[in-house]
Amino acid sequence: MAHDPNCIFCKIIQGEIPSAKVFENDHVLAFLDISQVTKGHTLIIPKTHRQDIFELESDIAANLFRVVPEIANAVKKQTGADGVNILNNNGKTAGQTVFHYHMHIIPRYGKEDGFH
Ligand code: 5GP
Ligand code: ZN
Repeated sequence: MAHDPNCIFCKIIQGEIPSAKVFENDHVLAFLDISQVTKGHTLIIPKTHRQDIFELESDIAANLFRVVPEIANAVKKQTGADGVNILNNNGKTAGQTVFHYHMHIIPRYGKEDGFH
């Protein structure tokens, strides 16, 4: 299904829950994580509901990954970070808590930025 009515990120896509948008096109949305691990912590999601990497068809993945460098560059530039970590949890045992596929972009500011 395109949207899951019980999914918090689908609600964000549909504007039912507000978010601080960083990037948007027809296929992809990027917005600030509500719980900022470091300043500028951003999530990138496909606009089609897929639970995790195991459900992600290659065309949806391609549309997503096509814009990841642009979003990473924008986050790096806007925050003044030195670098970024890009992370993706798949499955409860791997630490996934929201079951709509997403990538974390975590800006890094040096040894004391609190993220390990
Ligand atoms: P996961 O643990 O599944 O890899 O990451 C889920 C992320 O979604 C967490 O970092 C959490 O802070 C974020 N998150 C959960 N609910 C919301 C929300 O309503 N809005 C935003 N912007 N982020 C959320
Ligand atoms: Zn969803």
